[in-house]
Amino acid sequence: MLAYKNSLDFAKEKDLNDPLRAYRDQFYIPVINGIETVYFTGNSLGLQPKSTKSYIDQELDAWKNWGVEGHFEAIKPWFAYHEFLSEKAAKIVGAKASEVVVTHSLTTNLHLLMVSFYVPTSSRYKILCEKKAFPSDQYALESQVRFHGYDPTDAIIEVAPRTGEHVIRLEDLLETIAQHGQEIAVIMIGGVNYYSGELFDMEAITKAGHQVGAKVGFDLAHAAGNVKLKLNEWGVDFAAWCSYKYLNSSPGGVSGMFVHERHANNKNLPRFAGWWGHDKSTRFLMEPGFNPMPGAEGWQLSNAPVLGMAAHLASLDIFDEVGMDALIAKRIDLTNYLEFLINDLTARKGDQCAFEIITPSDPTKRGAQLSILLKGMGKSLFDKITKMGVIADWREPNVIRVAPVPLYNSFEDVFKFSACLEKAIDNDGNV
Ligand SMILES: *Cc1c(COP(=O)(O)O)cnc(C)c1O
Repeated sequence: MLAYKNSLDFAKEKDLNDPLRAYRDQFYIPVINGIETVYFTGNSLGLQPKSTKSYIDQELDAWKNWGVEGHFEAIKPWFAYHEFLSEKAAKIVGAKASEVVVTHSLTTNLHLLMVSFYVPTSSRYKILCEKKAFPSDQYALESQVRFHGYDPTDAIIEVAPRTGEHVIRLEDLLETIAQHGQEIAVIMIGGVNYYSGELFDMEAITKAGHQVGAKVGFDLAHAAGNVKLKLNEWGVDFAAWCSYKYLNSSPGGVSGMFVHERHANNKNLPRFAGWWGHDKSTRFLMEPGFNPMPGAEGWQLSNAPVLGMAAHLASLDIFDEVGMDALIAKRIDLTNYLEFLINDLTARKGDQCAFEIITPSDPTKRGAQLSILLKGMGKSLFDKITKMGVIADWREPNVIRVAPVPLYNSFEDVFKFSACLEKAIDNDGNV
């Protein structure tokens, strides 16, 4: 690993040599109480690109000038608005454009996909997921199980970290899949766990799932725009993600969904239908009899919420320009530097406050996020760094989640974060 240094000069030098450094200027960095924040919660809500406004304004103008005619007359006709996003979103998740559609919101899309891929039978009705999945996913899976008449305590298999460990071992996941193989209908896992920051080996999980005859899907809320994804190549059956975390596309913004091409023309899959999923050449004949579009588009219910889609398109255009490989290269360096500084702090301040990073240290097993377990000082430390302008995320009982984001965070941000922690430890009680 590169020899990192705990110094502002070193961090500034890294920024000077960063090929993506100009992109920070394309985002609004929040200034709170006169302090430019160290914004480390791009894993929760990504920052606003300065270009977003013009994309939304274009649609507001089209609406103003055309009314309903905007569906066909707008510069980007609303009738086909989602089509402007598919290919760009598909590149981010390693899919073909026909396998991806941007529509609805994340939890809605998870439900729609479960309707199609969770088809339980009396012998094969279980869902395997990770322990401590994001609550919305837990509720979604439980309600799906109940909807089909099963009991979640029996039908949901959770794979947990071993006692005393914080992340789930791949071997334990694979063993559980093999062990319960004949009973598992669907495997549904968060590609990157929101709490621990662990990146799962989706390729291996997909292979193991298919070997036992299960369908395999992923929630990519914390993975899309963060880690390398190859959904098509890995053979993943389905996936969904939100656009407002690493993808910077407005609070509560639209979601992406992926359906593997081998299911593209399977009209026998059960699905909840709506007019926007219907064959577009006959959609406006308004005739009875649902005939789904091939590919992911066939899962759309409603016409596109164009303003939210416009915000997403603004961000996708930036991702398209930068490319995931360049982003990932910087992300690895930024997060490694953060890890170095945190460990350095523990080595020097361990008597007052020690930090245990529960996220895997192997860069192939994590994305941007580090989840830091505090030992010695608690929430008061977090409150102090918040006052100094650090925006991070606190999880009870004592975990700080931070994600330096390669598009707009700098090495200087990472240094400042660590310097704030050090100052907060030194000035215990008075900042
Ligand atoms: C952020 C997140 C959600 C949020 O779902 P919405 O439907 O967009 O509110 C769901 N699942 C995971 C894993 C998340 O990280």
